[in-house]
Amino acid sequence: MSVVRDGIGVAEGISFGPIRVLNWGMPDVPHQTLDPSAAELEVTRFAEAREWARARLLDIQAGTEEILGPLESRIFEPQLLMLEDPEVVDGTVRYIRENHLTAARAFYWRMLELQAQWVRTSNPMVLDRLSDLEDLMVRVLHHLLDLREPTDLTGDEPSIVVARNLTPSLTVQMDPEQVLGIAADEGTRTSHWAILARSMGIPAVAGMVDLSRVAHDGQQAILDGRFGRLILDPDDRDHRVYRDRKDRIEAWEEELGQLARLDAVTVDGQPVALRANIDVPAESGRAASHGAEGVGLFRTEFLVVGRNAMPPEEEQYEAYRQVAAAFPGQAVIVRTFDLGGDKFPTFLHMPAEENPFLGWRAIRVCLDRLELFRPQIRALLRATAHGDVRIMLPLVNDVEEVIRVRELISEEEQGLRRDGIPFSSAFKLGVLIETPAAALDAAELARYSDFFSIGTNDLIQYTLAVDRTNARLASLYNPFHPAVVRQIHQVSRAARAAGIEVSVCGEMAATPLGAFLLLGLDITTLSVAWPSLPEVKKVIRAFRMEDARAAAKQALGAATSKDVTEALVAGLGGAVDLEVFSGRWNLSLPGGSD
Ligand code: PEP
Ligand code: MG
Repeated sequence: MSVVRDGIGVAEGISFGPIRVLNWGMPDVPHQTLDPSAAELEVTRFAEAREWARARLLDIQAGTEEILGPLESRIFEPQLLMLEDPEVVDGTVRYIRENHLTAARAFYWRMLELQAQWVRTSNPMVLDRLSDLEDLMVRVLHHLLDLREPTDLTGDEPSIVVARNLTPSLTVQMDPEQVLGIAADEGTRTSHWAILARSMGIPAVAGMVDLSRVAHDGQQAILDGRFGRLILDPDDRDHRVYRDRKDRIEAWEEELGQLARLDAVTVDGQPVALRANIDVPAESGRAASHGAEGVGLFRTEFLVVGRNAMPPEEEQYEAYRQVAAAFPGQAVIVRTFDLGGDKFPTFLHMPAEENPFLGWRAIRVCLDRLELFRPQIRALLRATAHGDVRIMLPLVNDVEEVIRVRELISEEEQGLRRDGIPFSSAFKLGVLIETPAAALDAAELARYSDFFSIGTNDLIQYTLAVDRTNARLASLYNPFHPAVVRQIHQVSRAARAAGIEVSVCGEMAATPLGAFLLLGLDITTLSVAWPSLPEVKKVIRAFRMEDARAAAKQALGAATSKDVTEALVAGLGGAVDLEVFSGRWNLSLPGGSD
């Protein structure tokens, strides 16, 4: 019987095939001693292995640079440095010569020794290098022991790779011809490997909990990267449903390709500004070619998460400038660091918290750690000289936070003027409305903000007290709960009354019913993950604003989520094929909750 496992969809696409469990683990390193006369041969083998690893890492780095850009490819530098580090090299050679160990055993010992030393230190820079150390160990040991690298799939049947966790270096080595899909126990949409999988066009799901322990090599599976679902041992019905779904999506995608050049306008002539959500600067080209009119949400956590140190101002400036350059004359809304919750920077050593989503996160962290926040403000201000770069603050709860940020900005502006560095003082500062406090206080916040963007992903979780990452609660995480709909309406009205722009940048805007409702609530600027842009445009071009307003009015008077959904489905009147779209709440797939 088939088994359905739900996680988080992190890269679009449906794939069918056998599973290959990828175990990026330490191989057994036999304890062998050598005849002393063989020592020099082992020293040479070790030098060759280092040379091989160096070439391999440079190769992977080049691949990463091609897909994600030079900034991201720097994550391999610590491993390249370690290969030359006398602590590693001399220590290993000494064990070969003095203890007559094989190169593999000597390297293994030396690295374990370093690992033990590093674990004891409290220096965060060193602690952050532990995963690099392990990564390098696995790679070099496989080579020295003449074992096939775990990521080497050459000659294997194309398969769906299942792993406990993935790293960018493992992901970038995957050949999309060989790897039909990826399913990992850990990770979220913003994990570096997930961003890579999206850029490489490999369907992927994350957050599968213990799948890597349950699944086995050769087991058949279907992976749906949009829904975040994996079906183990699918039966005929599962195959039929998903083949049909894949066919429909493909037919639809062909049509979508042509949509990029058309305007986002409703049947009765209401223009909609469609912007893109991006996670790294390298996505801006794809976003533009998918028809984005600017960037509505540029998440900046990639500059911090998984890094060894605070991101330098210069590097940040480059990243922001790069995106601004891809959208001349259009808005580029950069969100300041949204750390905490599910996005942990390692070097900041966030305290373990009982309730991370209700804890030290987003604007709270920035206002507490000015050594992190000030360089970001400076870099952002400098980027305003290159386009319509706007600054957006996450998880704002009250006016005082915005006032404090304005003070900091004005201090940094003075500094830039003093240093003769150009910036535009006409830039806009906006607020991400993500909590019921902000939604209820929207009229006050509007007095201090140049624009609002509603972050429905968080607004839904905080309104309904439903953890957005908890797969078990997925059916309760409902964007069409009347309390959510009413808050969005209230924010939209407050923004209009204050004469400021309001948009939505949560995933809700990327669903047909969501886009229909939001337009009905007079929100005519939407920002969605760039792969969804053509779909949303197709939906917008299929309905009338008048019908959206009527349906929204009905939704606002509805007593239950079900009534809201029904009002929207009826209003949209079959204008689009809802089954092709995402949103578990309007689908009836095998294993679905409905
Ligand atoms: C949101 O909360 O809706 C949002 C857009 O931000 P994120 O998904 O990054 O939390
Ligand atoms: Mg958010």
